[in-house]
Formats: sequence, C-alpha cells, structure tokens
Amino acid sequence: MSVQAVYMDHAATTGVHPEVLQAMLPYLGPEYGNPSSSHRLGQVARQAVQEARERVAGVLNCQPSEVVFTSCGTESINLAIKGIVKAAGGRGHIITTAIEHHAVLHTVEQLEREGYESTVLPVSSEGLLDPQDVRRAIRPDTRLISVMYANNEIGTVQPVAEVARIGQEAGIPVHSDCVQAAGSLALDVDALGVTSLALSGHKFYAPKGVGVLYLKAGTPVQVQQQGGGQEGGLRSGTENVPYIVGLSVALERAHARREEYNEHCSRLRDKIFERLVTQLPDVRINGHLTQRLANNAHVSFRGVEAQAILMGLDMKNIYASSGSACVSASLEPSHVLKAIGVPQEYIYGSLRLTVGEATTEKQVEYALEHLPPIVRRLQALSPLATT
Ligand code: PLP
Repeated sequence: MSVQAVYMDHAATTGVHPEVLQAMLPYLGPEYGNPSSSHRLGQVARQAVQEARERVAGVLNCQPSEVVFTSCGTESINLAIKGIVKAAGGRGHIITTAIEHHAVLHTVEQLEREGYESTVLPVSSEGLLDPQDVRRAIRPDTRLISVMYANNEIGTVQPVAEVARIGQEAGIPVHSDCVQAAGSLALDVDALGVTSLALSGHKFYAPKGVGVLYLKAGTPVQVQQQGGGQEGGLRSGTENVPYIVGLSVALERAHARREEYNEHCSRLRDKIFERLVTQLPDVRINGHLTQRLANNAHVSFRGVEAQAILMGLDMKNIYASSGSACVSASLEPSHVLKAIGVPQEYIYGSLRLTVGEATTEKQVEYALEHLPPIVRRLQALSPLATT
C-alpha cells in the first residue's frame, strides 16, 4: 500500500485548516492595522478582534469581555494560576494533579519557590482523578484548584465539572487546562463551572502562537504583563489580529463538527487498539478505555524503546510520538506514565498515536501494517522483552 505521509501526532499540533487560513489572510495582507489606532485601518482590525472575541464567547457560552487572547496555552495557564493566587494576597496553597502538563506543574513549582505550598493529587492506574481527593485536600488557605480537562499524553478526561462544584462549595476558584479538550469536548463554562480555562489554537487547526484564557467576570487576577493595556488590561501587547481571527474561526468550526469528529476519530482509534492487541501479545493500553479523548491511542510495548519504534515509523513516513520528553532509558520517563504506574519494562516503550479529522482509514491501515513488525523486530533484539 502506498501512502504519502501518515500524520498521527495531532496531540502535538495540527495543521492550519484551509478555511482558517482563508479567514486570516486579509489580516496578514491589506488589513494590517493596529486595533489601538483610531483610523479606518485600525478600526477594521479592532472590529476583527471584537468579532473573534464574540465567536469564542459563543462557543464557551460566556461574555465576550471574559475572553482574553494570549500568545499560547502556556501563557494562558501562567496568567490564570499566577494571576489568581497572587491576587489573593499573602501566600497560600494550590491543589493540582500529578498528570498536568508542565505548563501547570512548572508554574506551581515556581510558586512553591516563592513560598506557596501545593498538593499534587495522584490519579488512578487508569489515569483518572477522584474528585473526593480534591475535597479532602482543601485547606483554609487554598487559593486555587487546577485540574486539566483532557490529558495530553494518555488522553484521559477528568471530572472537571465535579471538581468545579467542590471548588464552588468551598469558595475556591477552579482553573482548567482545556488545551487538549477543544474540538472534542464541550467547553460551556457554565456547565463546567470553572473560574478560568485555557485553550491553544494549534490543537484545533489554528496556527501555533495564539491562545485564549477564559476568565470569569469579577475574578481578581494579578496582571502578569504590563504595557499598553490591551485585552482589558489583563494582557498588554498589540493583538495578533490574524492569529486571533484564525483561532476564533477554528474554534467555531471545531465546535460545530464535534460529534462528527469524535465519531470519526474513535472509530480509527478503536481499530488501532483492536489490531495492536490481536497482533502483539504484550501490548498495554494506557489510560481509561472510554473516559478518554476520541483521537488518542496510547500504548506501551514490553522491553523496547519508543525512540527506536518512532525511527522505524519515520522511515515509513508515519509520524507519531512517545507522548513525552523521554527519548532513552537513560532519561527520566514521563511523569504521567509514572503517575499511572506503568511497569518499568513497559514504560520506555510507550507510543502515542493521535489521529485527526483528515486521517483516513487507509492511512491507519498503512500504519497498522508497519507498526507490529517494527515492534516485533525490536523485541527480538531486546533481552527485556521476554518474561
Ligand atoms: N496544556 C496541554 C494539555 C498541552 O497539551 C499543551 C501543549 O502541548 C499546553 C498546555 C501548552 O500549550 P502551548 O503549546 O500553546 O503553549
């Protein structure tokens, strides 16, 4: 079977969709005004940003004034976590989970260096948080609870609405990193009950380098970037008009296609799981089987290194990921895989295959034709692969 390239790394990033690019082009070309300028060119840009804000607010079911455009998911997360805890004054306590993205974990670690304390909650072996653990971790000085909606490695979906209810009862703001959730899960902030949530354009067919922070009206927040007072004073810096427009169109588009997308992706993901389980005796599926993103298949193979599998796949023009920064047994394995207790002999052979809206059945067949022989070949050479 000849297939040009099979991109199975949509959790890392997605390509810009042609409709999104089309919507951006005027603002990369003739409509280059600065939204802060009072002349016609500036007004056109300001109007474009305002319409983008309304589009995003429509998807999130919030007020346009509650939408803050940023440069990426990481910036949104930093602004929410640092901004909310610092606005509370003094020092205090933060609750989060062991499987958060480093954008959350490293931000919390930085706050610890500044004198804050944290509770990093464990998850089950299936990668799920027990909301009651959140309730038990609350202290009188807890300033913030930060729980991701969907995990970027194993794709598990966390009970964010339940956590938010617990936070509300205790009067504690709840932030959610929804970067991986957009396009697959509903992001209605009323239904979720969160105080803030973060999104990143490049995970749903908008460009890299643009993000959103939803911040509930009236939430005290310490501004992290001073300057010209854009974004209601919350995020100074001239607005990235074309990218903001692109993000808004991509989010609206992804939201409208959610059902179709989930059906398409879950069919391909389940095919990957079924085929690997039947063809390879030692495969381990990571993360809950159903409480997971439709497009995420995360597996571990006994006694092999993910990097070797990835190189074998790359030679066949199949692009996947180990789902972590770990590239060799000499380096630390992923904090997420450690948190769910993946056994030592499997942890280094972990592979994340994430499909997308343009992934075809034929591409998945091609990948499934090549992956098992690559794993078998490596296992034949590995002393760790046998029991
Ligand atoms: N949070 C999660 C769950 C992610 O997957 C990512 C990116 O991979 C981020 C945060 C960071 O987003 P960005 O790349 O826009 O900074």
